Amino acid sequence: MVLEGLGDSLRSTLKKIANARAIDATLVKEIVRDIQRALLQADVNVKLALQLTKRIEERALTEKPPAGMASREHVVRIVYEELVNVLGKPRDLPLKHQTIMMVGLYGQGKTTTCGKLAKHFQKKGLRVGLVAADVHRPAAYEQLKTLAEQVGCHFHGEPSAYKGQSATDAQVAGRVAAGIVARAIAALKPKTDVIIVDTAGRDKLEAGLIEEMKEIFAAAKPDEKFLVMDAQVGQQAGPQAQAFHDAVQVTGVIITKLDGTAKGGGALSAVSVTKAPVMFIGVGEKVDDFEKFDPARFISRLLGMGDIQTLLEKAQEVVGDEEKAEATAKNIMSGRFTLLDMRDQMEMLSGMGPLSKVLDMIPGMGRAKIPKAQMEETQKKLEKFKIIMSSMTREEMEEPGVIKASRIKRISLGSGVDPHEVKELLKYYETSRKTMKGLASNKKMQRRLMKQFEGAEGLEGIR
Ligand code: GDP
Ligand code: MG
Repeated sequence: MVLEGLGDSLRSTLKKIANARAIDATLVKEIVRDIQRALLQADVNVKLALQLTKRIEERALTEKPPAGMASREHVVRIVYEELVNVLGKPRDLPLKHQTIMMVGLYGQGKTTTCGKLAKHFQKKGLRVGLVAADVHRPAAYEQLKTLAEQVGCHFHGEPSAYKGQSATDAQVAGRVAAGIVARAIAALKPKTDVIIVDTAGRDKLEAGLIEEMKEIFAAAKPDEKFLVMDAQVGQQAGPQAQAFHDAVQVTGVIITKLDGTAKGGGALSAVSVTKAPVMFIGVGEKVDDFEKFDPARFISRLLGMGDIQTLLEKAQEVVGDEEKAEATAKNIMSGRFTLLDMRDQMEMLSGMGPLSKVLDMIPGMGRAKIPKAQMEETQKKLEKFKIIMSSMTREEMEEPGVIKASRIKRISLGSGVDPHEVKELLKYYETSRKTMKGLASNKKMQRRLMKQFEGAEGLEGIR
């Protein structure tokens, strides 16, 4: 998926925020630098990337979080909001009588997108007519005609128009194309609701192309002017968008080939130049590979907002657990370690959800380090231990020494496990208790223990 790299970097930046103890100027600067780097690597326009990160920095440093919102959450929200802003205000394409003109360089996907748009309108019950106004490539006429047949819409083109035209003969080409458009509109208007005009491109921006667009524009008097851009376009996206915008006043951007592996940031930058939102995205070569674009949803997906939200919530819970952790730790330092303490310790670890998920959320602690099977094993064991302990009496939890054969039998029956599993728990407890006893007299180990309660490092102790 395109923009995967950008998504990955931004996600790890947000994780940094979510895991931060506190938000301060140093952290904000670091985050802003991270985001800048991520945007530039994804080919987002340099000026745009700088403007965007400057706004994020200003807001993160000056805005107070609204009541009830943690500052971490607030900063994540600022990053999200500013990224959504860059993509422009979403706008629905009205379902009414209209003429749409497609512009863009050669090979960006204009003709293909004409077919996709036609299908979009047809599905909504509107009658569509496609107009072949690319007078440079005979293949373009055939391509659009085929698409019209496939979609089942009207079509107007004049194959004879290609005779004697050349890309350099811009004035002639422009006039010929404008003539076709005028005749097409006259012919299609009575029987269609939406007229979509396909135009020619060039390998690169040149005066002839712009002249030609202006001629077609004057003939078509389009309501919508869509700039079609390949997701692969890099830093040239800005100047390209500007030139087309100057010629026809772009009203929407369509980004194609988002199913590919391009960086995509360049094409997204076109939005800030034209101030016209991304309306649709192309995600394949077929007429159905077309999606309405929703900036908020797109950014949420890109950032993995679901994950980030969960992480923020978990982080909050852990903070709440800190007091409990401290009490447990104090108990242990005093040389006492009961099954109750052990259960608390385990709950703190498993309270954050499946261990693998918890570790996934912490940068640098992915599954890569701890084999999945081992992780699941630990998780299962914790669950089982909890069940066994729920069948114990308060006395047994506080004085595990009293648990002998007959009690083991009762507990195993009560919790529905095998007696050897109860013994395993007791053995595990005994090992932990000895470790804890050693810890209580070792300052360095004590510090490590305190750290253990702060999160996933505790796994070392549990295994
Ligand atoms: P035009 O020169 O701007 O009219 O571009 P075309 O519509 O002829 O498209 C150029 C090439 O890009 C064709 O091979 C299309 O099949 C392909 N293409 C267009 N849109 C998409 C898309 O969203 N995804 C993919 N994978 N290919 C696309
Ligand atoms: Mg074409």
